Amino acid sequence: MHNLNPAQAEAVSHTSGPLLVIAGAGSGKTRVITRKVAFLIKKRGLPARAILALTFTNKAAREMKSRVGELVRGRAARGLRVSTFHTFGLNLLRRELKHAGLRPGFSLFDPQDGEALLKDRLAEASLTEIAPAAALARISHWKNDLIPPEAAANAAEDDFDAALAALYRDYERSLRAYNAVDFDDLILRPVALLREQAAVREAWQARIGHLLVDEYQDTNSAQYELIRLLVGELGAFTMVGDDDQSIYAWRGARPQNLARLQEDYPTLKVIMLEQNYRSSGRILKLANALIAHNPHLFDKRLWSALGPGEPVRLLSCRDEAHEAERVVAEILHGHFAEQHAFGDYAILYRGNHQARVFEQALRTHRIPYFLSGGQSFFARSEVKDVMAYLRLLTNPDDDAAFLRVVNRPGRGIGSTTLEALGGFAGAQHLSLLRACAAAGLGGPVKDPQRAELRAFSHWLEELRGRSRTEPIASARALLKDCDYHGWLYQQSSSRAQGEKRMQNVDDLVAWLDALHKGERSEGNLRDAGLDDLTARLSLLDVLERQEEDAGGDRVHLMTLHAAKGLEFERVFLVGMEEDLLPHRASIEADDQGLSGIEEERRLCYVGITRARRALCLTLARQRRRYGETIICEPSRFLAELPEGELRRDNDPNAAADSRQRGRAHLDALKSMLGGN
Ligand code: ATP
Ligand code: MG
Repeated sequence: MHNLNPAQAEAVSHTSGPLLVIAGAGSGKTRVITRKVAFLIKKRGLPARAILALTFTNKAAREMKSRVGELVRGRAARGLRVSTFHTFGLNLLRRELKHAGLRPGFSLFDPQDGEALLKDRLAEASLTEIAPAAALARISHWKNDLIPPEAAANAAEDDFDAALAALYRDYERSLRAYNAVDFDDLILRPVALLREQAAVREAWQARIGHLLVDEYQDTNSAQYELIRLLVGELGAFTMVGDDDQSIYAWRGARPQNLARLQEDYPTLKVIMLEQNYRSSGRILKLANALIAHNPHLFDKRLWSALGPGEPVRLLSCRDEAHEAERVVAEILHGHFAEQHAFGDYAILYRGNHQARVFEQALRTHRIPYFLSGGQSFFARSEVKDVMAYLRLLTNPDDDAAFLRVVNRPGRGIGSTTLEALGGFAGAQHLSLLRACAAAGLGGPVKDPQRAELRAFSHWLEELRGRSRTEPIASARALLKDCDYHGWLYQQSSSRAQGEKRMQNVDDLVAWLDALHKGERSEGNLRDAGLDDLTARLSLLDVLERQEEDAGGDRVHLMTLHAAKGLEFERVFLVGMEEDLLPHRASIEADDQGLSGIEEERRLCYVGITRARRALCLTLARQRRRYGETIICEPSRFLAELPEGELRRDNDPNAAADSRQRGRAHLDALKSMLGGN
């Protein structure tokens, strides 16, 4: 209980019933969760395996796990489950395979797989005016709101809606046929299972002695339902959240879930935390002033005992290049003149596209940086190939994976053959891979191609047998047998590109190996099969992309969404302009009566409250976008900040500018020479 204020201590020791901690940024909500896990084990004698703590990102889960690890050591911590909602859902489905109506080795479809699946259907249904991604987003919304295809069809108001609902039905059918689930299913299917099967539900409720959820404000309807089913009537849970940081409405998050909890659990205790331990006074004052412009479910006040701290600054820049240059000059100055570590700095922006100029400027000055998000490792073509091979290896019903790899490397299987194979497979109710080996294929498919398809399926069949005992060796053998590296090299436009792509493939296999040995994941995966390892890798991707590699003394670059829950000594919140923050799409949504601006204001609040000691806002007066120069207007949020609290530095006249640049170059030179 040391270093907890009375309200925090109360939240930690309240274990007799349901608890909601609702509090502003930096007030120690996450600290309450980690301390409470330790408290439950050490003081309440709960076995670690009876505790389940859920968060939204893998990074947050890892962080929480390591913090708990410092408080509870060794055997006492064994079996403790700290994970994301999605990983938990995956684990539950694996354990309840049969009850969930899945066969072993089921595949996990990522959004690209889903889009590919929808693409053909959209064409068939002549729904050409809607993009696959948009259709998938619509389906995802239905799923997150727990609306099944039939209900979606019944609620359709016009032909277009009805066509989309039919598409949703087909999409679900295909997933079932492929023995596959998508990311939304990782929540949805456990919910359906626990709802329908009382015995399974009771077993899980008995297993979970206490459930803790961080960032509770971002739960959607499906996640809310999952929580409800897991905790049962007793409601032994601790939810912590901040309605002012709800930033996933577009993904179906329902901040009303905070209020709903009070209705569903009459004995709910609500604790507010009001002291902020993160940010100095001036930063907090700004954050409070900004968020006061939003309507509130709960009234909160936040104060800090850390003193006023450094003034918050606003840099007005000519254009985006100038903005990046000034930010980098500030970082160089802070690093060399004031001994701040590079890792103390974060550059936060609204959209990934804003990162490019900053990356370039940082590179020019040889400042180490780490970019979260960006082009995903797993979106790369070669990585997708290998993932598809692995999926096909573990799940012969995965048609999407089959189509991806059957000609990579080339096997002379053209579209006519694939069409014939598809027709045959459909008529026989077989998956494409199974159809390759079936008797009777000879009719529709010509001899040489049939031999190729047979060989392909036999080869995978053999490897599948081996993968059960030697998952990693079989993955390596697969790539070697088909000379995937050689093919990749041939396909590349340059030697350097070829090497880079081969490296990506090797990294992927090494990652798989590390996962298998339990070097980088929760729990022991030594007994896990290739299917489990592959699913985990896909899951890592969408939720965190390359976060795994963060570390070292580097400037952090990330979107405001990715920054949630994190803190940095010194923060640059860049692009404080209309159309960027608030985002154009949200301004338009607002014009249609949706509360888009409020969500943008919360995002801005999240950004401001990441800073511990220093905060600097920047904006550009013009920017190049889509090849045009656009005059930018300062963000409306700037006008909502108390005027006296912002130190404006909007006189980037030539002289001052070149002085600053001169210094930056000098410093960069010093850093290259290794001295300071
Ligand atoms: P966010 O809303 O951004 O997720 P949070 O409410 O989860 O923030 P934490 O990250 O738990 O806040 O805490 C913010 C900072 O304050 C952390 O550095 C934490 O270690 C520190 N802190 C929290 N409580 C205390 C305390 N009682 N004494 C000292 N430091 C504290
Ligand atoms: Mg937190």
